[in-house]
Amino acid sequence: MNILLTGGAGYIGSHTAVSLIEAGHDVAVVDDYSNSSDEAVKRVEKITGRSVNLYEADVADKKKAMEILKKEMPDCIIHFAGLKSVGESIEKPIEYYRNNIDTTLTLLECMRELGLSNIVFSSSATVYGDDHTPPFTEEMSKGMCTNPYGWTKWMQEQMLDDAQTASEKGGDWKKPLSVVLLRYFNPVGAHESGLIGEDPQGIPNNLMPYISQVAVGRREKLTVFGDDYDTPDGTCRRDYIHVMDLAEGHVAAAEYAAGRSGTEIFNLGTGTPYSVLEMVNAFSKACGHEVAYEIGPRRAGDVQDSWSDATKAEKVLGWAAKRGIEEICRDAWNWQSQNPNGYNN
Ligand code: NAD
Ligand code: UDP
Repeated sequence: MNILLTGGAGYIGSHTAVSLIEAGHDVAVVDDYSNSSDEAVKRVEKITGRSVNLYEADVADKKKAMEILKKEMPDCIIHFAGLKSVGESIEKPIEYYRNNIDTTLTLLECMRELGLSNIVFSSSATVYGDDHTPPFTEEMSKGMCTNPYGWTKWMQEQMLDDAQTASEKGGDWKKPLSVVLLRYFNPVGAHESGLIGEDPQGIPNNLMPYISQVAVGRREKLTVFGDDYDTPDGTCRRDYIHVMDLAEGHVAAAEYAAGRSGTEIFNLGTGTPYSVLEMVNAFSKACGHEVAYEIGPRRAGDVQDSWSDATKAEKVLGWAAKRGIEEICRDAWNWQSQNPNGYNN
């Protein structure tokens, strides 16, 4: 298939590009480089030995999006493009709603006009909110989100599903849509080559890039946000999934989306939670030295526990995560130690 990745120069998109190409698909990428650069795509080409059609554009810009989609006429769109920082979304809600919602609306309008029918969307476990006790299953109702970023995911899921329902009735739609909503848990790690990985701008918000930067000497120590939760070691638990497992989940999802119609939701997680301190210890083993940390106060908005029930993806897509925390920490360290300053080496 010919698959277009919006936001394909980013962390998850670049790893997915590798897996798609290795599975025999052709890949095109559109990105505005607001949180990335073309270097990641060059490295994807290096890893795979194949070229990627690369477009620099804002996906919300309908004129440009139409030009690109008309040229590519992809069998499937995987929509990664979006702003993703929880903290920043609280400071800049308008920018988050504008960018994340507009990219999806523009894509849907273009798909309707061009008769394109398959879309896979990057959603998040954040849509479960804190209304449920894990493991989270796809049948659970969406919850109350704790920040604007989460609400953009919540709303984009709704918009895609509403468009799918309308497309079943015909009208302006040439074909019924096939929508796959992927709810990621905590993507971490890097491609095993160490050529691509997570490269956050500024101070990392997320745990794993923060630990990696302490381990490589870019930061002094990690602050663990709270050790007074009701968990075995007092720190929060998450479902950390290797980004290459996640990438392979997208290959299965794109292949599943083709040739059907409807909306289907899948959790992409491992089903196994680890605490913050377990991750710090696993990383220390992988890098061969202690990762310095101190215990700090809780971070506002954090849920204590989040992990998936990952059985639906296994049953329906035939996909399950294969890599554990040893591989996660090994590959994250391999990337960070080879690229201490990310892509700006
Ligand atoms: P990322 O920031 O590395 O990648 C997103 C890419 O989208 C970037 O390359 C950015 O430049 C691009 N982009 C943003 N707005 C754009 C626009 N209007 N037009 C074109 N390109 C645009 O983030 P990521 O970690 O790879 O996440 C990919 C997707 O997965 C995002 O939608 C994110 O919200 C979602 N997600 C990520 C996580 C996570 O922990 N990384 C968890 C759940 C969901
Ligand atoms: N965390 C931490 N210190 C940090 C960053 C994160 O203790 O510098 C904790 C955070 O409180 C949460 C876990 O690590 O319990 C995962 O946080 P992350 O931001 O990576 O993912 P999310 O909270 O969005 O699931």
